[in-house]
Amino acid sequence: QAKEEGRGKFMFYTAQLTDRAQERLFLEGELCKAMDKDELFLEYQPQFELANGRLLGSEALMRWRHAERGDIPPASFIAIAEETGLILRLGEWALRTACGQAMEWARKGCGLRRIAVNISGVQIERSDIVGMVGDVLAETGLPPEFLELEITETYVMRQAQQNIQVLDALRAFGLSLAIDDFGTGQSSLAYLKRLPVNKLKIDRSFVADLPSGENEAAIARAIVALGHSLHLNVLAEGIETPAQAQCLAEMGCEEAQGFLFSRPLAASAMEDMLLSHASRAMPAKLTQRTEF
Ligand code: C2E
Ligand code: MG
Ligand code: MG
Ligand code: MG
Repeated sequence: QAKEEGRGKFMFYTAQLTDRAQERLFLEGELCKAMDKDELFLEYQPQFELANGRLLGSEALMRWRHAERGDIPPASFIAIAEETGLILRLGEWALRTACGQAMEWARKGCGLRRIAVNISGVQIERSDIVGMVGDVLAETGLPPEFLELEITETYVMRQAQQNIQVLDALRAFGLSLAIDDFGTGQSSLAYLKRLPVNKLKIDRSFVADLPSGENEAAIARAIVALGHSLHLNVLAEGIETPAQAQCLAEMGCEEAQGFLFSRPLAASAMEDMLLSHASRAMPAKLTQRTEF
């Protein structure tokens, strides 16, 4: 009887695996066509200075709206794109679109602000990322100091040595580099010190349990301190409550991103926010000037 049961379970698991594999194959095939079918677009999540709410810029986030399936989240397709190498095309498309968008906003009177774009480790490993970024900067005309590339801690640390040269070459354009999801990977502090990066983004898992989670608070505080001692900016992502924002501000964290301030926005909504901040920023600038 046990045998029977065991066999039943075995068949059940195989069926599940098959579903999973089929789903994967389906997504892989569809993702191949998604770019040509115009199903991909970017949303932009604003980033703010925590102490005063000044709008610093936004992070471009990839979106896939499938004709039949509707919205498919990055968590379901980025890994597939990485495993198949499709991320090389998608990543280049995202960078070009985001940089072009930032320039379009500037032409529309929004002012030029920072645009942050996620880069997959696969792009660094398997393509000429330096050449590609150089091309996109040249084609779009975006001044490099307005571009920030985000690379996850897990990748940066896994590839330690080989990375530094590529990151150095990227920095040489004049753009800035952020380590994304910081705190989740195993950073070697000695290595971190040698990395040519400008910013740490505290992973939202440490932000979620603030202010009451004592361990998370200790980690967030340690990341802020670590960042500062290495002369890096620190941004907290995934801030959802005023208490979390206040707690991070008290720790000395400079920058913030999260649903509390804004969800990721369609380009048009982001444009409206940029415009309203551009006009609001004016008087402040004038006051500052009269002080001098
Ligand atoms: P990420 O780069 O760490 O982006 C932040 C994620 O947190 C985004 O999820 C964003 O929507 C979400 N988020 C922001 N604020 C909050 C909040 O207050 N609460 C919660 N619960 N979530 C918040 P999203 O857009 O689903 O993207 C997930 C991940 O997919 C990104 O994490 C990034 O690793 C990857 N990804 C997205 N776009 C790209 C891309 O163009 N290229 C690459 N290589 N990866 C991308
Ligand atoms: Mg990111
Ligand atoms: Mg992140
Ligand atoms: Mg993440």
